[in-house]
Amino acid sequence: MEKDHLKIWEEVCKQLKGILSRDIFDRWIAVIQCVDLTGNKMCLAVANDFYKDWLEENYLPMIAKTVMVVTGKEMELSLEVDSDCFKADHVDVEPEQTAPISLPNLTRPGNRKQDHNLNPNYTFDSYVVGPANQFAHAAALAAANSPSRTYNPLFIYGGVGLGKTHLMQAIGNHIIKKKPKSRICYITCETFTNEYIDALQNNSVMAFRKKYRKIDMLMIDDIQFLDGKQRLQEEFFHTFNSLFEGHRQIILTSDRTPSELAGLAPRLISRFEWGLVTELGKPDVETRTAILRKKAELLNLNIGNELIDYLAQRVSSNVRSLEGALIRVATFMSLTNQKIDTQKVEELLHDLLDKESRSAINVDLIQRTVAEYFDLRPSDLTGKKRTRDIAWPRQIAMHLSRTMTAQSFPVLGEAFSRNHATILYADNLVSTKALEDNSLQQTLSILKDQISKNCSKALQ
Ligand code: ADP
Ligand code: MG
Repeated sequence: MEKDHLKIWEEVCKQLKGILSRDIFDRWIAVIQCVDLTGNKMCLAVANDFYKDWLEENYLPMIAKTVMVVTGKEMELSLEVDSDCFKADHVDVEPEQTAPISLPNLTRPGNRKQDHNLNPNYTFDSYVVGPANQFAHAAALAAANSPSRTYNPLFIYGGVGLGKTHLMQAIGNHIIKKKPKSRICYITCETFTNEYIDALQNNSVMAFRKKYRKIDMLMIDDIQFLDGKQRLQEEFFHTFNSLFEGHRQIILTSDRTPSELAGLAPRLISRFEWGLVTELGKPDVETRTAILRKKAELLNLNIGNELIDYLAQRVSSNVRSLEGALIRVATFMSLTNQKIDTQKVEELLHDLLDKESRSAINVDLIQRTVAEYFDLRPSDLTGKKRTRDIAWPRQIAMHLSRTMTAQSFPVLGEAFSRNHATILYADNLVSTKALEDNSLQQTLSILKDQISKNCSKALQ
């Protein structure tokens, strides 16, 4: 038993390493020790309260899920502070510095390769251009060719897996290739946040500022994570101004437009709009085919044009899923040495293809179907009237929208002209009632069927 818990924890770490970025893993997971595992109780320890609070707030649910996957059963996790069990590793560290967080890039200013954090595969060469991204691509190329002279800041937004990170890093790679000594920095907003928190904790905010204010180009990925973080926004505002005034290029990506970043200070939003705001849309089928061909070529996969066309037709929601589908099919072929037909692909990718058809179901379709069923107008569901004959179908539509689309509560709130708490309430209410009410269960199932049918009709 003694050794078991260490083995299990090692496996959990292995899994988490595959999910989290290296920086996040080193910073937040590698610092945890598994001290005990008895029955279904696992006890973890960290060196101080700072880790405990941050982990509980941010990573504990993910750790718990991973533990469940590894052990095959639900575990109760507890996290305690035990500075003793970390002493051996930190004999030469002053007590107030027991937090082993460091700012690696700050302490190694000469190491530029490390500093820019770029993935060398994300280049313009490997980026396929089509109608949905040609404008963003042209803007990125212009920024790469004459940084800070064309669009500053360059703000690229678009949904998950549509190529924001790739395009942003292509700019960086292009510049580094032309001028290897350029001081450029690519960083995710999450890592940027963590570095700032470290700096606050270690009294090294000055070093943090210096690092980000002396570079030639700053790229921050997924800036929407600044949402609601007042102090960090304040800090970033000054960094932004300092770089901008020094004619340094700033590039930002986000999953929505600046004006939709509701938790951001207005002065930051207006700065984001100073330069160029450009969208990455969903690629059309020709672009998807070209992307698949390019990826197959880069990864040396031999899967044939027929299958490539088929995948491009079937997977349309985003490029990341498309790439996943390609790799899954190619792996199957190389492992089994079998030729594969479209029926086998259906089987192999059924979860992904399911998700694809679900992603075609949208709130508008749900509202129309629910309104028709209850003999209302779709506008009644988004309107102000609160009589029960309207309020109840509205709550049902909210619940179905939550369960049948991948949209967040705030997005759904907007679709129903309500705030997100109303959607949350309706979703809980309908789910709870359905547990005991058979006729409601039936209504929901009829509606779900009808929504799926209407969706297939709309896709034809
Ligand atoms: P995002 O940052 O928008 O979530 P990524 O940049 O991580 O998306 O892209 C997801 C995957 O899709 C990456 O492997 C990327 O190389 C690939 N990809 C996205 N768009 C394109 C494109 N136009 N051409 C080639 N590959 C693309
Ligand atoms: Mg990204």
